[in-house]
Amino acid sequence: MVHDVVIIGGGPAGLTAGIYVKRAMLDAVLIEKMGIGGQIIVTDLVENFPGFLEISGADLASKFEEQARKFGLEMKTLFEVSSIEDNGKTKTVKTSEGDIETKSVIIASGTTPKKLGVKGEIDFTGRGVSYCATCDGFFFRDKEVVVIGGGDSAITEAIYLTKMAKKVTIVHRRNELRAEKINQEHAFSNPRISFVWDCILEEIVGKKIVEKVILRNVKTNATSELKTDGVFIYVGLIPNTAYADVKKDEWGFIIANDKMETSVKGIFVAGDCRVTPLRQITTAVGDGAIAAVSAERYLEKL
Ligand code: NAP
Repeated sequence: MVHDVVIIGGGPAGLTAGIYVKRAMLDAVLIEKMGIGGQIIVTDLVENFPGFLEISGADLASKFEEQARKFGLEMKTLFEVSSIEDNGKTKTVKTSEGDIETKSVIIASGTTPKKLGVKGEIDFTGRGVSYCATCDGFFFRDKEVVVIGGGDSAITEAIYLTKMAKKVTIVHRRNELRAEKINQEHAFSNPRISFVWDCILEEIVGKKIVEKVILRNVKTNATSELKTDGVFIYVGLIPNTAYADVKKDEWGFIIANDKMETSVKGIFVAGDCRVTPLRQITTAVGDGAIAAVSAERYLEKL
């Protein structure tokens, strides 16, 4: 069987694309390598998705999923894509569970948190080093933690961690944050958060679990030690696009035009894994809708 559309990724972009293609009466299947919902599942609080004053990422994701199911979107989890073969009018999506034939593809596979690559990072992952405050914050009740990074992820997760940890130290490599101003203000006014500026993480040290970090000041080159029970790393994102043979930028984000068309006819992209000035739930859902309509028009011409 040849589907009209295969959507790769079950986050906000993929689920929105799914809602739109099903409402256009197309035969579509969404495949996801983990569970439906994407990265927002581990977001404690979303307060910038219009229509919801405050909602947890997990609740918002389940609403997206419920809506996609209502329109009959078929979803398959634990399907990991290894490549997409372009046969012209059809594509073969090669997955861990076998090949899927389709006339078009919407790539919405998002991003993965970047690793720092410092000494101790891998050894202490799960023993004090984490990339997910929502998953692991609970283990740091009344403890002291360090958050690395100055973007929105680092700042919002640091604020979340203050609900459990008694002290959160944000270590940033510059003396100015990259995060949205409102998030910065929340962090600056939080009495449990302190900042270490102009420093990078050089090493994570401990015996069985994390005991301290070694920091290096990038201006003076001086190193210092900071005792801590945990290290939360938020230093950016890697796009999940290695399987896709389409035009990308130097970091692997997929290049598309304003119709979400990639360099390969019949392959569209939506959400965080594309080159975009903003990576938010709002922009992901917008991309998903555009990609779906573009796929529909492509199929009409086909
Ligand atoms: P990001 O915006 O790329 O920020 C990464 C941060 O890590 C930057 O502050 C960067 O420093 C720092 N960094 C990068 N490499 C480093 C290294 N080797 N050592 C030390 N620090 C390093 O990534 P993000 O915070 O994950 O956000 C990704 C996207 O999601 C953004 O578009 C963001 O707005 C969005 N987001 C939004 C919200 C929200 O509440 N609105 C929440 C989470 C994420 P420099 O600043 O010096 O480059």
